[in-house]
Amino acid sequence: MSAAARAAAIQLIATKSPIATENRSSNVPQMFGANVFGADQMRARLSESAFRALRSCMEHGQELDPGLADQVATAMKEWAVERGATHFTHWFQPMTGSTAEKHDSFASLEGGKVIMEFSGRALVKGEPDASSFPSGGLRATFEARGYTAWDPTSPAFIRETRNGATLCVPTAFCSWTGEALDEKTPLLRSSEALHRAAVRLLRLLGDTKVTFVYPTLGCEQEYFLIDRSLYLLRPDLIATGRTLFGAKPPKGQELEDHYFGSIQPRVLAYMQEVELELWKLGVPVKTRHNEVAPSQYELAPIFERTTVAVDHNMICMEVLKHVALRHGFQCLLHEKPYQGINGSGKHNNWSLSTDTGENLLEPGKSPEENMRFMVMIAAIMRAVDLHADLLRVTIAHAGNDHRLGANEAPPAILSIYLGEQLTEIVDALIAGTARGGERKKDTMRLGVSVLPQLPRDATDRNRTSPFAFTGNKFEFRAVGSSQATAKPNTVLNTIVAESLAHIADEIERLQGAKGLEAAVNEVVVELFKKHKRILFNGNGYSAEWHLEAEKRGLPNLRNAVDAIGTFCAPKSIALFEKFGVLSAKEAESRMNIMFEAYSKAIAIEGQSALSLARTMILPAAQKWQLTVAQSLLLAKQAGMDVKIQERRLRDMAARIEGLVVAIDELTGVFEHAEQHAGSPHEHARVYRDRVVPAMAKLREVADVLETMVDDAEWPLPKYREILFMQ
Ligand code: ADP
Ligand code: MG
Repeated sequence: MSAAARAAAIQLIATKSPIATENRSSNVPQMFGANVFGADQMRARLSESAFRALRSCMEHGQELDPGLADQVATAMKEWAVERGATHFTHWFQPMTGSTAEKHDSFASLEGGKVIMEFSGRALVKGEPDASSFPSGGLRATFEARGYTAWDPTSPAFIRETRNGATLCVPTAFCSWTGEALDEKTPLLRSSEALHRAAVRLLRLLGDTKVTFVYPTLGCEQEYFLIDRSLYLLRPDLIATGRTLFGAKPPKGQELEDHYFGSIQPRVLAYMQEVELELWKLGVPVKTRHNEVAPSQYELAPIFERTTVAVDHNMICMEVLKHVALRHGFQCLLHEKPYQGINGSGKHNNWSLSTDTGENLLEPGKSPEENMRFMVMIAAIMRAVDLHADLLRVTIAHAGNDHRLGANEAPPAILSIYLGEQLTEIVDALIAGTARGGERKKDTMRLGVSVLPQLPRDATDRNRTSPFAFTGNKFEFRAVGSSQATAKPNTVLNTIVAESLAHIADEIERLQGAKGLEAAVNEVVVELFKKHKRILFNGNGYSAEWHLEAEKRGLPNLRNAVDAIGTFCAPKSIALFEKFGVLSAKEAESRMNIMFEAYSKAIAIEGQSALSLARTMILPAAQKWQLTVAQSLLLAKQAGMDVKIQERRLRDMAARIEGLVVAIDELTGVFEHAEQHAGSPHEHARVYRDRVVPAMAKLREVADVLETMVDDAEWPLPKYREILFMQ
């Protein structure tokens, strides 16, 4: 790699134009879900009774009986083979943050001939070798086998690639002893817990119709695109997903001209193909736009049931990456690819739906609906206040540390934004007054008063809040762009389930003596009083909020390592165990995996930084030093006065010395970190406290050198090129 390669890459970009998609169709309804084994395919290919049994399994996550499994497998295979599939895979989400798959062909031999076969057993259960997936100490190597089990709540789909197609069956991944080795299993367990707690509470509140409650999720996904010819010249991006060096460009995002700006033609062509692919896969993508930073974009789907939406977001990230290659781009999902430029997040829009088609976070029109709505708000306030630390863990990883609290993303302090009007109502209920604070005879009571219309427009949305009520859903905004959303949603479901159960207990305790309405009123008002400290409508980026939050006693877990360390607090383990979401052993293994993932991420970054600094940046700087020194020597011999230039050379030499010192320092702490024995937590702490600062120091001097060395000799594509050349 050389400066010449950089120049060649730039020349190549100049010749690139938008790539047309083959076999493009604009009939969205026809295309949508074409590659999904959905209700239409099932109805057409299964007997009426088999279809109904399967639908019921899919909707309520019940187990499938083996006879039915064979029928479903055969139907699924026939459909898949008609669509060109030769292979199938169980598709799962191990604790690596991404998905895993192992393909098997349908082919089997019968009498010397190949037939295409897919049995119910192969559909329902797979046995991948689990020993190479993280287990956080759950699984000793001698019992390395794990198994994947079909998750009928999420539909099977076909992934088409240039030379074939593969049937993907979403599955959960467990050890032989039944412990969850994936992100999906706890998510399913938490959805079940939430359903049970919600239905129980709705019954108490007088609802007789709802039989099923499920969380919903819409993930707004941010990402960066970089031209692939420049990407391939950045070993740091390749190894770590972010740039470890790079001086600030003359123009960054200060003109604020990118957000919602006109979409560049090559990028638009890419987005259109992404959408076609996703529609075929049944992912209901809806919105596309430019984001705040140069070459940053967003895609948002229509919300769906969480267990499906979580899978769809994984598919979405995969499709974003795969399609990028066809268009000569690399898609960067890292939270902070570029220093000094906004990073990427994923807004996790969360709500609760019922099988009667209602959104439980929709402010009501009738007094009964109001009561239900305020009960939900109280439950969520309680949940977030009691378990802010746990929610914080779910967004804790090395990449997100660059964003949280960095004036571009919500702070690491969890608080809830309810908006002014809803906060006023909460205040009025606490004070026992009508809205506006005056004490009237007819004070506001739940279940009696009709709530004022709550505004749903975007004007009063507070983008600085990590957890905001946006009209009929909560938006958890601190989730990282590269993250799988299973973990945040598992915790969200669990903590809300616990609060709903608590409220139900309290209402049951009080209603005998007081009657239902008074009991609900008392419970809700008590919760508002107790958990009001979690509400904050102001500027989450401000220094005052940090002070105020400290006064209120809200946890401020500033970095991933501190946050992860709280995952196994006794109250959290008790919560997970009570609702059957994670056992203590499972929780502990997850904590270890999170620490290990952190340490590994920083270790790879440290190694990458060292290698780039030693073999690319230092040689380029020394070469330039040599050129300048020789030039000055000759000029002096010819009798020129070059004092000022000499001063510049001395400055340059001093900085190169500084670079070498920083390289040595990082090498030293690195060796220390790698040899450091101790728990995964201690290990992660060493990486955070020693390696991260040493890397920052190295970057500082390298970035200054970038601004001094001859541009024609600089080996790494610069920010001004990466961010603006497409
Ligand atoms: P923005 O936050 O960019 O203003 P929108 O309000 O349009 O965006 O919606 C953001 C996301 O919230 C979309 O993915 C949308 O489908 C999702 N959403 C809307 N309603 C719900 C709901 N009831 N449950 C979960 N997600 C929802
Ligand atoms: Mg949003």
